[in-house]
Amino acid sequence: MNENEEAMMADEREAMTAMAYTADDYDVDAHVGAHEALRRLRDGNRIYVAAPDPERDLSPERIQDLFENGQRPFACIITCADSRVVPEHIFMTGLGELFVIRVAGNVVGPVELASAVYACEHLHTRLLLVLGHTHCGAIKAALDGERGYVAAITERISEALGDVRDPYAASVVNARAAVAELEARPELARLAAEEGLEIRCAVYHTHCGVVDFLEGAAG
Ligand SMILES: [Zn+2]
Repeated sequence: MNENEEAMMADEREAMTAMAYTADDYDVDAHVGAHEALRRLRDGNRIYVAAPDPERDLSPERIQDLFENGQRPFACIITCADSRVVPEHIFMTGLGELFVIRVAGNVVGPVELASAVYACEHLHTRLLLVLGHTHCGAIKAALDGERGYVAAITERISEALGDVRDPYAASVVNARAAVAELEARPELARLAAEEGLEIRCAVYHTHCGVVDFLEGAAG
């Protein structure tokens, strides 16, 4: 690469940076609202289910841009560690778009809570989505009464499930229990009441890739 090309690339990078992050992005009011965030997730999942090979921004320029300007993820997703449930793929997002917390069974304990509060308070993410999924091994383990080294997860899930035995219903109930944990956190409750934070849940269908966004108070 000669000097001219290098200079052009630097110019382009500067232009892209200027386009992607204006000063307004650092104003809380300029962050993506919960409804717009939900729309993006719904649209992304439609493309994912139908999709051939859509492009997402994983470019070196984007890496540099995020490094220089910081991250502004438009949604925080809490989901299972299952290798088939990959939010960045499911919602067709690139670098810097989702703040993802993954743990088997998408349970919410102190560490997950702290991570979620960080995303919502410090990164101004206005949509917090608990994404459960069908055919979840952690939920099956809980339904089967497994304990031992998985007890930290299965006991939490069993407590949420109560008498529920149907696996799909269990995915929904477990995700709603995580939402309830999040809603009870004072920092998140305040953001929900005053700053437009929405805490929702959804279920990913492992066999076909479709996400059902659940409605209702904990939906
Ligand atoms: Zn799972």
